[in-house]
Amino acid sequence: MQRFKIAVLKGDGIGPEIVEATLRVLKKVEELYGVSFEYEEGLIGGRAIDETGTPLPDETLELCKNSDAVLLGAVGGPKWDDLPTDKRPEKGLLKIRKELDLYANLRPAKVWEPLIDASPLKPEVVSGTDMLVVRELTGDVYYGEPRGIFEENGKRVGVNTMRYTEDEIRRVVVKSFEIARKRRRRLTSVDKSNVLEVSGLWKEVVEEVSKSYPDVELEHLYVDNCAMQLVRRPNSFDVIVTGNIFGDILSDEAGVVVGSLGMLPSASVGDRYALYEPVHGSAPDIAGQGIANPIATVLSAAMMLRYSFGMDSASDLVEKAVEETLNQGYRTPDIYSEGCKKVGTEEMTDRIIENMERLKA
Ligand code: NAD
Repeated sequence: MQRFKIAVLKGDGIGPEIVEATLRVLKKVEELYGVSFEYEEGLIGGRAIDETGTPLPDETLELCKNSDAVLLGAVGGPKWDDLPTDKRPEKGLLKIRKELDLYANLRPAKVWEPLIDASPLKPEVVSGTDMLVVRELTGDVYYGEPRGIFEENGKRVGVNTMRYTEDEIRRVVVKSFEIARKRRRRLTSVDKSNVLEVSGLWKEVVEEVSKSYPDVELEHLYVDNCAMQLVRRPNSFDVIVTGNIFGDILSDEAGVVVGSLGMLPSASVGDRYALYEPVHGSAPDIAGQGIANPIATVLSAAMMLRYSFGMDSASDLVEKAVEETLNQGYRTPDIYSEGCKKVGTEEMTDRIIENMERLKA
């Protein structure tokens, strides 16, 4: 029997509720597919600060390094908002991504037809949209040196440096071609090579890598054009790969195009480790009420099955069960609309699990 070890970091706010719901879905995957998941919990975020004084204790990092994948809820909350920036729960997230060298952030943005009205775009424009934005996470203007606010001729000047090495570009581009191969074999590389040398290098490396993937159709778009096309023809994209700052903006845009925050999963992957978490935060305003939408975390676990464990059919099953549950009209309050059946976290999870069983039979 195949065995995988999963580090479980529930975090703060609704984190524990949505992660526990997701573990129930994974238990059903174990039953249906004859695999075995071993879970070990670690502290992160606000709870870790309360119990150990730091948002990412060394034991948690060790646990992640000794696991096949990491499943994370969310961190943060008003209780820790007044701490200095370097002591806050969110620091734990930045540190874990850096320590595990998670250089590619994968953000799928798919329209769920029963929720099509949640999109700010017209249904006929957004219908069929199913894309994945790959954002490089470790380089670019966020990390380049020199940086700072300096004085020049008695005036302040702000400086950041856009910088990428060819190796940093190559590894995220290779990852993106590999992902495109598992999807509809189309890759859009986004840059600003009409103005920026960094982007010129980006495009050159993309072209070089593409020679090894003749089966994947490649297009290049300037970032300003891509921002427009995302709202004009979102259903024409499959995989989009881009640098850190362009990806920061475009992945949020793609998320808004398809609608609800409670439905958006994500993965941050490197060569050895991978971490799966919902895009949304810890939603302290609804924590402990049993009404959080577990779907973003459930779909993050589906990504884990696909990208870390190679369990594509189990991943498909979870996604189909989510879609079926929405088709049946079940909605947590954040995605509720008139005529639907309003349910809490637990019932939504029950319905997803039932649908998994039914669809697998
Ligand atoms: P948020 O995503 O937590 O919440 C925004 C709004 O969406 C809230 O009204 C919330 O109730 C709702 N919401 C979010 N997820 C939901 C879900 N699964 N089901 C139902 N409703 C949901 O963003 P925020 O309010 O700006 O931040 C709250 C805390 O989360 C802050 O401390 C912030 O720093 C932190 N945060 C953490 C992460 C992370 O862990 N990756 C990401 C973003 C924000």
